[in-house]
Amino acid sequence: MSDLVLTDVGKSFPTQTEPLQILENVSLEMTRGQNLAILGPSGSGKSTLLQIAGTLDSPTSGSVELCGTNPFELDERALAAFRNKNIGFVFQDHHLLKQLSAVENVLIPRLAEGPTTAQDMDRAKSLLDQVGLGHRLDHRPSELSGGERQRVSIARALMNQPSLLLADEPTGNLDQANAELIGQLLIDVQQSAQPATMLMVVTHSPALAAGMQQTYQLKHRRLVKQTESQE
Ligand code: ADP
Ligand code: MG
Repeated sequence: MSDLVLTDVGKSFPTQTEPLQILENVSLEMTRGQNLAILGPSGSGKSTLLQIAGTLDSPTSGSVELCGTNPFELDERALAAFRNKNIGFVFQDHHLLKQLSAVENVLIPRLAEGPTTAQDMDRAKSLLDQVGLGHRLDHRPSELSGGERQRVSIARALMNQPSLLLADEPTGNLDQANAELIGQLLIDVQQSAQPATMLMVVTHSPALAAGMQQTYQLKHRRLVKQTESQE
């Protein structure tokens, strides 16, 4: 059984005149351990789709099911808790809190669950170690490079052992060398995550897309499967 199921998802935004239809009949299934890339021109609705999969925005038609739950049937509070527990986000901009250290930023997803424990701290440290920043635990974002900040945001996204990892142009602000390193790191952490997690990445980088198991293209409001690696 699939862990993420999008069925005939549509999204339109109201305007002064007629509604602006962004997505139409988008269907997609994933299971834990799988990863995929979504490509498409700017404005094609990639971020909108990721927001819907991430329960940050609701579809105007169709349905979303993550780990057997329809998140849009939950009330606001339950939805926030569900999202925090099940979904990790990596954005183009790192979205780190500048007054907090690297390890404190990684702990943020735990804060909603109550006071953090020594075990949480150990996990945050070991995640930073995994992304190559074990020696920069106490550094603030301003003391880190762009690539390092993105490493912290990847560690933060993994903190609650999410079933779904979403990344929206995660390498878009990086130079090519760092983009390649961060892209590969995302795939590595997803592939080694226990329990297994799904990874959906929106990217303009053909190199990053080529490293993923499946590639989809968002075009004319629809999601089209492009390739599947031979396994
Ligand atoms: P992409 O990430 O592929 O560049 P987006 O998903 O950000 O595309 O946006 C797709 C289209 O939806 C764009 O034309 C954008 O202007 C429009 N759009 C996105 N969010 C809103 C909104 N809240 N209200 C109205 N239009 C929106
Ligand atoms: Mg976008």
